[in-house]
Amino acid sequence: MEGLTYCLETFGCQMNVLDSQLVQGQLCACGMKPVQAYRDADVILFNTCSVRQHAEDKVLSRLGYVRRFKQKRPEVIIAVIGCMAERMQEQLFSTAPYVDLLCGPGELHRLPALLADVHRRRERVIALSGSRSRRTAVLQRALEDDSLEALDLSRAPGPEDNVLQSYVRVQRGCDKFCTFCVVPFTRGPERSRPPSHIVDEARMLVARGCREITLLGQTVNSYLHQENGRPVRFAQLLERVHQIEGLDRLRFVTSFPADWDEDIFRVMRDCPRICPYLHIPAQSGSDRIIKAMRRGYTAAEYLKLIDTARKYVPDISLAGDFLVGFCGETAVDFAATVDVVRQVGYKSLFVFKYSPRPGTVADRNNRDDVPNEVKARRNNELLAIQSEVSLKQKQALIGRTVEVLVEGYSKAARKIVAAGAPAGRGAVGQVESSRPATSLARPPGCELDRGHEVSADKSHQLVGRTPGDLITVFDGAESQIGALVRVRVTDASPLTLFGRIEGVVLPPRGKPDHTGTPLPTHSPL
Ligand code: SAM
Repeated sequence: MEGLTYCLETFGCQMNVLDSQLVQGQLCACGMKPVQAYRDADVILFNTCSVRQHAEDKVLSRLGYVRRFKQKRPEVIIAVIGCMAERMQEQLFSTAPYVDLLCGPGELHRLPALLADVHRRRERVIALSGSRSRRTAVLQRALEDDSLEALDLSRAPGPEDNVLQSYVRVQRGCDKFCTFCVVPFTRGPERSRPPSHIVDEARMLVARGCREITLLGQTVNSYLHQENGRPVRFAQLLERVHQIEGLDRLRFVTSFPADWDEDIFRVMRDCPRICPYLHIPAQSGSDRIIKAMRRGYTAAEYLKLIDTARKYVPDISLAGDFLVGFCGETAVDFAATVDVVRQVGYKSLFVFKYSPRPGTVADRNNRDDVPNEVKARRNNELLAIQSEVSLKQKQALIGRTVEVLVEGYSKAARKIVAAGAPAGRGAVGQVESSRPATSLARPPGCELDRGHEVSADKSHQLVGRTPGDLITVFDGAESQIGALVRVRVTDASPLTLFGRIEGVVLPPRGKPDHTGTPLPTHSPL
């Protein structure tokens, strides 16, 4: 595969973003070169998501689009990897018979070898875990775990990779089987990675310039690994990662309310570099619906958990997921959801219209009986309520100083550069060079400035996040990217804080030399 080019597009959650990073590392290690445009690629890969129909439709439409490249150059390889490959093998081949490779999320460690197979034999290749039972014999399971573990262990970010904020997987799969959710079917059973592997990976990333690590799992707080016959739970794992010297921020997503363990709050309270942030989906505020979803808690228990969180970590910032229009959801059920949203006071909310997923219990046993218009109306209503709540929370910060990890130029600034305006014009006058068209941006999916003015010319607008995950924009200079700074808040919108830099907490780290030793830091800001 040496010398071939590839174009990889990622859909879906943080887990997919991480899988794509690991896959890219493997492809680069076999001499393949990344390109930005499908037309320049010898191999086109889609890393896919099956959580909602909408995500799958997007990939089907992309597959339709790339057909032209395959028609022009039949040797181009088209690969569908991730959850859609696992879930809809036959449908994919009937819709896009020119797809050459299907590779499920549990088989990604084999991707380079599978691609080489397609390339050599010019035959379609399929690698899915679906046929294997969840009750696979213990030995077989151990072998699979080892080879899957190899994918995470193969991680070796190069000098061009932006590791400032990195994900580290702590868990694979999911065993919760919420009645609406396809994840246990596409990602397989829940398995926790060995704590020593997680800590080593985090340490390696910090040595290469990482400041903030987010531990990833479908239900991260259910983490449990037997180490020399003793259980290591999530609270202990957090403590171990927190001890890594040089790590400035530690987060984790996503938490599952029914499995909560108060020790986690104790650790959050006592470890200053763990961010006061919790993403904890409730899905509904109606006990009847929560039960139909088989989530294993009541609304009152969820609210009590939030109270406990605030008792331990008073400034905790909360994010939630809600599903609207689940089978049988009435106006009364939805009113209960609105109630929970108002009572909790989330920092942000992810609201999804229920989308029936083939194979799930809800799809087998219930009718998708809430009309689309009603789902859309409830969706908008929840978002409007959250928007009010978010605005009030953010306005309360005006005049205060927040700590921000500077991630890069804001979306508005990047748009100006993309449109061809010279960088460094106007505003702060500190930027000496035009910015590179790279990579210090956040992974896809981040919310950014929605129109508030910091300066008339936004080409110097930087963006970062507070420990509580509040997006903050302010004018600054390229040399500040990667620093931890203090920002005085001057204005707020529902999604964003706007402010002025007041000072530097920690300057950016120097570029590491990739033998693991960070080089000296840049000159002071
Ligand atoms: N494992 C996490 C949990 O259940 O708490 C979340 C994983 S899921 C990939 C992310 C979000 O997608 C869920 O919290 C849920 O709100 C949403 N989601 C899952 N299945 C869905 C479905 N069938 N239709 C619409 N949204 C869905």
